[in-house]
Order: sequence, then structure tokens, then C-alpha cells
Amino acid sequence: MILGKCPYCNANVISKKITARGKNIKVYSCENAKKQYDESEIYVFTSDSTCRFRVYSNTFLKWNKKSFSELEMKKLLKDGQTIVRLHGKKGSSEYFKYVIPHKEYGVSILWEEEIETL
Ligand SMILES: [Zn+2]
Repeated sequence: MILGKCPYCNANVISKKITARGKNIKVYSCENAKKQYDESEIYVFTSDSTCRFRVYSNTFLKWNKKSFSELEMKKLLKDGQTIVRLHGKKGSSEYFKYVIPHKEYGVSILWEEEIETL
């Protein structure tokens, strides 16, 4: 499924289901950012990859957001940013932050920007 255009090289960003450590997650990846296992079983970008834009749906797990959805990714690609809902420990104190594309890490959270909640 095509979610939009890569912010860096304008190729299609595709959503795929994968299994990582026994969990089903999604990876949103630019068509030019392909990964494979090399001879030493390390997951690396292929030699023909010209872009590094890849985002995993569990990318915000550390902040207790289980899944970064296809819809959120679509909005990020379309508007150049999206807002995510994050949680403190044990599901307490939810808060909102802007997320923008990041060339090396896929996405990054704008910690400095406050969002007025309605
Ligand atoms: Zn790209």
C-alpha cells in the first residue's frame, strides 16, 4: 500500500507488514531504502539503496505509543509533520508532540515544541 511520497527523494513510501521479534508490526519505507541481511546476518541497507527513509510502526514504543499508524504516516508525508499522543509510565499523563521526518532515523519528535491541547 502506497502512503505518500518520500520527503527526501520523492519516491513512493510503501507500507508493509513484517514480523520482528515475534511481533507483527508495519514498516513504512521509501522504495529507495531497501534492507536485507548480509553474509554476517546483519540487517543492512542494500547497495542500490539511495535513500534511508524507513519508519517502523513501533518506533514510539519507548514513549508508550504502541503503534504509529498508516494514517499518521500519511499525514506526516502530506503535511511534513503530524501530532502523536504519547504516554508517561503506566499509561498515566498523556501528552502530545509534533513528529517530523528525519533523514537518518525516519522520524523525530520535536520535544521543544508545545502543543495547545483543546
Ligand atoms: Zn526516499
